[in-house]
Amino acid sequence: MSKNFKIALENKIFEIVSKASQELGLESYVIGGFVRDYLLQRDFKKDIDIVAIGSGIDLALKVSELLPNKPKVQVFKNYGTAMLRYKEIDIEFVGARKESYSENSRNPVVENGTLEDDQNRRDFTINALAFSLNQNNYGDLIDPFDGLTDLQNKILRTPLNPDITYSDDPLRMMRAIRFATQLNFVIEEESLKAIERNKERIKIISGERIVDELNKILSTPKPSIGFLLLYKTGLLDIILPELTALNNVEEIEGHTHKNNFYHTLEVVDNICPNTDDVWLRWAALLHDIGKAPTKRFNKKQGWTFHGHEFLGSKMVRKIFERLHMPLNQKMKFVAKMVMLSSRPIVLSEDIVTDSAVRRLVFDAGEDVDNLMTLCEADITTKNPAKFKKYHSNFDIVRRKIIEVEERDHVRNFQPPITGEEIMEIFNLQPSREIGVLKEAVKEAILEGEIPNEYQAAYDFILAKAEKMGLKKVTK
Ligand code: ATP
Ligand code: MG
Repeated sequence: MSKNFKIALENKIFEIVSKASQELGLESYVIGGFVRDYLLQRDFKKDIDIVAIGSGIDLALKVSELLPNKPKVQVFKNYGTAMLRYKEIDIEFVGARKESYSENSRNPVVENGTLEDDQNRRDFTINALAFSLNQNNYGDLIDPFDGLTDLQNKILRTPLNPDITYSDDPLRMMRAIRFATQLNFVIEEESLKAIERNKERIKIISGERIVDELNKILSTPKPSIGFLLLYKTGLLDIILPELTALNNVEEIEGHTHKNNFYHTLEVVDNICPNTDDVWLRWAALLHDIGKAPTKRFNKKQGWTFHGHEFLGSKMVRKIFERLHMPLNQKMKFVAKMVMLSSRPIVLSEDIVTDSAVRRLVFDAGEDVDNLMTLCEADITTKNPAKFKKYHSNFDIVRRKIIEVEERDHVRNFQPPITGEEIMEIFNLQPSREIGVLKEAVKEAILEGEIPNEYQAAYDFILAKAEKMGLKKVTK
């Protein structure tokens, strides 16, 4: 006997879809994410997928007719789908289909099909579960691949041969890993091997779609689950080779360095409780990518990574370009975080001086708090004494940031005396001297020699100018 979940269909929309289907003389089912998340007792997402055995577009139009406010139906003719919004929820309608794929595209040839055909084309058994919306078996679970058992055992399995499933639409490989991370599920062994065998197929997927999945992985509480799977299957080497390049430990004359790949994954997991900002999480993921190309060994210092922050921030732009990510403020933010990623830690290893903190705030500006969050996550030392020392130094840095900011306002630094004012004081034309004086004032403020105030800056400039042989013009 089939299991019944009428109780899951309390939302009024299901009754209306059922009525609309009956009027049109077709069958309909709710399928995919809604059913899966209901059975997992997971927070409902704001979308519901309905499959009609017949035209999904006709069904959507009929449903709208039956709703009191007759919501607008968005029709996607090319895909044979339609969508409407009901009480903040997107309801998507699709006609049941049978799909066949060709070698070079993830866009299949589509024909009308049965419910079973439609369930066959779904990516995972847990995503092929459907509840009937038909009068004769309303609420029955239609589960041809025993997805319910996979759900209980936390297993991701493809309904059909995984090699074909992944090769047909390689995005499913990313989806498998994303669901494994989001739901804390295991990818069934044959399926995992099939991903490994089909990894090259990922090259036909657009950067945007890959990044959508990466963002979903990065938005989970423990993204390392996904990145380790991406690594293990060989996908990461294709998508983000800059990261896999960090996965090694070399030894020369008894000197080793840490494995920066595993370190990076630890940093990403560490930052998650402290920020939901996916871009800051990207910064954590990419903060050490400059280390592979800058790694050197010399007898005196051992392993060094000189300039890795600068090179890493340049690499950020290249990655964003390659993956078709937005080349806007977000990219600049990630590059800036990578560029500055060693600054607070260097600071906290030593005695924390006011001037070093002032320079940090000056360089990081608005993003100084995010930078601190990144750098605290970067502390992955297994030495308890060092761990404690770094964290307590970070507390000092945070306190000093507030103090210095109250006094000197360098976060959005505006020079207390402008270039124009300097020109006027000494009756100068635009010239090198003005730049020198402005820089000297900035340096004096950052060093804490003078406060960030007009009169102090004025007096400082007069003294400095005199040494340079400049004379004040008396009015
Ligand atoms: P979420 O919305 O949480 O990301 P979901 O399972 O609802 O999860 P959607 O992308 O909204 O995912 O897709 C809805 C349903 O469509 C899925 O449950 C699955 O049945 C099917 N589906 C989506 N993408 C694919 C795909 N690439 N291959 C096969 N089936 C897919
Ligand atoms: Mg969905």
